[in-house]
Amino acid sequence: MGDSMLPKVYDPSHIEQKWYDFWLAQKYFSAKETKTGKEYSIVIPPPNVTGSLHMGHALNNTLQDILIRYHRMDGYNTLWMPGMDHAGIATQNVVERQLAQEGLHREDLGREKFIERVWEWKQQSGGAIVNQLKRLGCSCDWDRERFTMDEGLSRAVREVFVRLYEEGLIYKGDYIVNWCPRCHTALSDLEVEHEDSSGSLWFIKYPLDGTDKHITVATTRPETMLGDTAVAVNPSDPRYADLVGKFAILPLVGRKLIIIGDPIVDEHFGTGALKVTPSHDLTDFELARRHGLERVTVMDFHGKINENGIHFYGMDRYECRKAIVRELDEKGFLEKIEPYAVGLGKCYRCKDVVEPLISKQWFVKIGPLAEEALKAVQDGRTRIVPEHWTKTYFEWMTNIRDWCVSRQIWWGHRIPAWTCQDCGEIIVAREEPRECSACKGTRLVQETDVLDTWFSSALWPFSTMGWPDHTPLLKTFYPTSCLVTGFDILFFWVARMMMMGLKFMHDVPFRDVYIHALVRDENGKKMSKSLGNVIDPLLVMDKHGADAFRFTLAALAAQGRDIRLSESRIEGYRNFMNKLWNAARFALPHLADAPGAGFAELPDRLDVVEQWIVSRLQRAIEEVRNGIESYCFNDAAQCLYQFTWHEFCDWYIEYAKIPLAKSGTEEALRAKKVLGYTLDRILHLLHPFIPFITEEIASKIQGERASITCGPFP
Ligand SMILES: [Zn+2]
Ligand SMILES: [Zn+2]
Repeated sequence: MGDSMLPKVYDPSHIEQKWYDFWLAQKYFSAKETKTGKEYSIVIPPPNVTGSLHMGHALNNTLQDILIRYHRMDGYNTLWMPGMDHAGIATQNVVERQLAQEGLHREDLGREKFIERVWEWKQQSGGAIVNQLKRLGCSCDWDRERFTMDEGLSRAVREVFVRLYEEGLIYKGDYIVNWCPRCHTALSDLEVEHEDSSGSLWFIKYPLDGTDKHITVATTRPETMLGDTAVAVNPSDPRYADLVGKFAILPLVGRKLIIIGDPIVDEHFGTGALKVTPSHDLTDFELARRHGLERVTVMDFHGKINENGIHFYGMDRYECRKAIVRELDEKGFLEKIEPYAVGLGKCYRCKDVVEPLISKQWFVKIGPLAEEALKAVQDGRTRIVPEHWTKTYFEWMTNIRDWCVSRQIWWGHRIPAWTCQDCGEIIVAREEPRECSACKGTRLVQETDVLDTWFSSALWPFSTMGWPDHTPLLKTFYPTSCLVTGFDILFFWVARMMMMGLKFMHDVPFRDVYIHALVRDENGKKMSKSLGNVIDPLLVMDKHGADAFRFTLAALAAQGRDIRLSESRIEGYRNFMNKLWNAARFALPHLADAPGAGFAELPDRLDVVEQWIVSRLQRAIEEVRNGIESYCFNDAAQCLYQFTWHEFCDWYIEYAKIPLAKSGTEEALRAKKVLGYTLDRILHLLHPFIPFITEEIASKIQGERASITCGPFP
């Protein structure tokens, strides 16, 4: 492309778009479906359809692109599977906000129209991130792009749900869930953000039945006492041993509460006596199950006291707390109040305080699935890098609870379950059933809940390749080679992909999991809008080019250390691009009239300096290969930076100017060959990191050779 000279000034905006279009047109990113014997594959962590490229994405995808480009150049049949996540709650929120501007609520449209509206939104404004990933240079196989709500993936979701249900691994049950009273949905444990807050510990006297004595319980949530059905003590606690089996009277309400003994009660918390509120606390819910206690629900899904709350009925939870404390105090039940640090659970989306509430939910029975996923890492079928995350993974997998997969929203995979209105039978099926399997009735109503967004992403490594069909793609690329991800979704996503992959593909979804660090600001602070320290990757790329940006991220991506990013760092690596550009501008005229375009071979005889630069190059090749293959991207990038700038440019080129000046001599010809040989390999080594500028320069010296994108890697 173009003439053989480079413009004086390196301007990324003139080359980046041009080369990306060229690569796409040449279909260089397309994977071959049939096995070649040397395969390499990665599935992209699907960004939300609502998403816009942030620093986390930029780092994550730059590292993936380096791995993919490196292996592609090195002769692997390479698949980088792209796609997006439908992001249930986030997307529904966006469209609801849009509706609100028109003065509408989703209920005004109804479910069907609302979902149409979401698809419309996706069509018009969703998926901006795909073009931003292209801007970054990501060499995904875009023709295979998937969406977690597309037809094929929806089919995979239904298939998995039905199979798990048939095996008894999905059940519907009463369960205490984290409920967001504002979003009106159940949240998984992982969607609850924990925050320390200064609260109080209220000590409340519960009279002992038939005596004038009392037992004092301590609680951080006095309003829930309305739903108490027992008092629990530790059976080995001498203070209370003789009270077990006796009764206390619930103040204000008057209900008789059995006093139970259970080893779970912490003798050192408060007074060592615990009020038990099975409907509003997870521990109490479990206690109630073990002891067969009654459950009294006193709060509704809006966080308001319901009809079981005597004269507090209708009050908001915080209003009720005040009223109860006041009344307890007036009636002499309040012993004391102590300041106490409480851990508040907040909705990850709206930050409202979540309320543990009982509702009917769908669950995945996680035990048997987790066991396999644990084993696969223990026996090394999947390797987690850096290794210290393995411990975190083990801890989580051994303490895991059943996974609540139902969500009370509209946008998502609607649960394929129907209830017969005549006999109450629940039918779970791949396709809508025409009649009840029990009574042959035809009045069937589908479950209104949708599945947790992570349910479909858990299937991502195989659903994107065409499962449940036995496709050539699955045969060729599953298990994938590596998953590149941040640690924040190790649990949400990685562990669940492990479980589902092992269950349905009978093999792990990936051989390696590489967990990269976070991108922080230059002072090590998390980037956030409120702190005003966010660096926008799109602006950075406009200003300095994608290459300088990518190289910066790679150079800072040390294992186990967060990245401290500042614009001056990016400027620094922009200078590196200039240095490379100028070196190439110097070299190109010398190479233009040298026979043997491509510089595949070195001359037979080298002088001492030439031997030196060639041996340094050899060392750099080894280091870069090692760096990439062991996920030490920073080592590879630093090595390239040092070698290119300080050895090739500063020393070798300066030296070569002497023989190059002796036009027409044997010496000059030899210098041209060594110069071309070295520059050509530097460009190839750098290509996975900085694909655009290397392609531009290489195109000027390669003659008829194919694009640098196709390798070979030195
Ligand atoms: Zn919420
Ligand atoms: Zn029926």
